Amino acid sequence: MSKKIDVDKQVAEARAGSRRATARLLTALESDSEQVPHITAATAGGNAKVIGLTGSPGVGKSTLTSALISAWRAQGLRVAVLAVDPSSPFSGGAILGDRVRMADHALDDGVYIRSVATRGHLGGLAATTGASVRLLEGLGFDVVIVETVGVGQAEVEIASLADTTLLLLAPGMGDAIQAVKAGVVEIADVYVVNKADRPGADATVRDMRAMMSLVRREAGEWRQPIVKTQAEDAGGIDELTAEIDNHREWLIKHDRLAAMRRHRAWAEIRAAVDDRLRHHYRVGDDLAAQLADGDIDVYAAVRKVLDD
Ligand code: GDP
Repeated sequence: MSKKIDVDKQVAEARAGSRRATARLLTALESDSEQVPHITAATAGGNAKVIGLTGSPGVGKSTLTSALISAWRAQGLRVAVLAVDPSSPFSGGAILGDRVRMADHALDDGVYIRSVATRGHLGGLAATTGASVRLLEGLGFDVVIVETVGVGQAEVEIASLADTTLLLLAPGMGDAIQAVKAGVVEIADVYVVNKADRPGADATVRDMRAMMSLVRREAGEWRQPIVKTQAEDAGGIDELTAEIDNHREWLIKHDRLAAMRRHRAWAEIRAAVDDRLRHHYRVGDDLAAQLADGDIDVYAAVRKVLDD
């Protein structure tokens, strides 16, 4: 159980740009503190663009994130980043990538960056990260980037949290094939071939095009663009942010954004209900004995769990 914080004061400070207050609130949220309902009530609402960013280690996720932050800051938007490492047991700490990114934005109150560990968390990756995204929205961030390492199930889960998911590739890493295998190609909305300055970038774009031509798509579905970037010197970033905006407009025009958000909200409610029920498991032990001994029936046991 974490230390109690003054929730209303921290929320006010976080909204005014205090990264420390934002960090405290996220920590309380993650640590399953009894203050969670107060925190969620005080931060309900908000409306951020949620951007998923995924790709293998070394493709340039941190560098690209930093470039995207700069582009959105230039538009006056407040930007938060959750760097999710599904294999890490630590939380709130600074991984190397964070330090790289922080260096560029360390003095900017409009930017908040945090690494999120998910191993061992109750409720699963998407549920815990989803709650953090919602909190950041409620604190007034205009863009929340959820970045994940590697290619696999974790990415697919994280993509379900994002309005727009970017799959980042780099030349010569064999990523295109891997991404297809892991099903990440289907969940990405925009493909980004980073390190466009390196030989082989055009070949990677061609591979992706060829791959996409094999995927069957219904008429009227979103057609994923492929954007070449050179994250280190912000090359292609304007085109990338424009494609992200295009995708968002497409989602709105086709009534997808609201539907996706409702779907996510329902998943969040289910996760919270599961969580609440977990607190009843000790009661459940007792009830199981009573049910096994024939002292009560199963629905009487259910009523006891839910009324408790
Ligand atoms: P991550 O592991 O996916 O977060 O990748 P990083 O952002 O840490 O980048 C990995 C390496 O690629 C670093 O040495 C970056 O400087 C380098 N890098 C990133 N973007 C580019 C680029 O556009 N061109 C080149 N040549 N190198 C890049």
